[in-house]
Amino acid sequence: MESTYTRTTGQKAAEAFGVVAAMALISLTTWRVASAPLDMAAIIALGAALGVGVLLADLFSGFVHWLFDRCGTEETPFFGPNFIRAFRFHHKDPLDITLHGFLATNGNTSLATLLPLLLLNMMPIGAGHWSVILVVASLVTASVLTILTNQFHKWAHTKTPPALVVWLQDRGIILGRDHHAVHHVWPHESHFCITTGWLNPVMGRIQFWSRSEALAKRCGIPMYFDDASHAADPSAAPAE
Ligand SMILES: [Zn+2]
Ligand SMILES: [Zn+2]
Repeated sequence: MESTYTRTTGQKAAEAFGVVAAMALISLTTWRVASAPLDMAAIIALGAALGVGVLLADLFSGFVHWLFDRCGTEETPFFGPNFIRAFRFHHKDPLDITLHGFLATNGNTSLATLLPLLLLNMMPIGAGHWSVILVVASLVTASVLTILTNQFHKWAHTKTPPALVVWLQDRGIILGRDHHAVHHVWPHESHFCITTGWLNPVMGRIQFWSRSEALAKRCGIPMYFDDASHAADPSAAPAE
């Protein structure tokens, strides 16, 4: 079976470039951090940065996902055809993502992280002060996980992912299948974080997304329920 997601040769070349360039920048920055003179405070900062980076990536995935799921319509200039349509199509056909190849899955997220990675690589690590190490290592970790977010999301829909992936999913280390399935229940208004999903319970408890939605409405941004395109979604009709 073929995915409905088609790209031009130019888009595929850009995705390949994004993956290679992101990997090069991540390797270079990691090497710069590892070769800096690290004292005990910097080593502790390095450990803390791993946790901070995971939370940042999960938060970022949730925010972008919420933005394109709930704000604007498929007719919104630029964002509608390029992003909003794909996010809402995923609700109508959640399995199409499992047909995406490596570049289709990881190319765009790699391209999106290139500028931040380039800026990070220009930061002076020099004496390896703990505060610089904390910032750089947190953002590199967040970038790596942001690149992998679509892959984790794809695996959350894959019937038989690799055994190691199932192990990670079952322990909640990466986005779990049952955990993500909650988001796919109409009206898709919770569990937006799709990197690890760790922040979803917190976001639910503080009503982060419904409050953000109320704020967006007050700012006059057209919202999901103004978009008639979801009417074709069989899951859109609540049971009578
Ligand atoms: Zn969604
Ligand atoms: Zn999904």
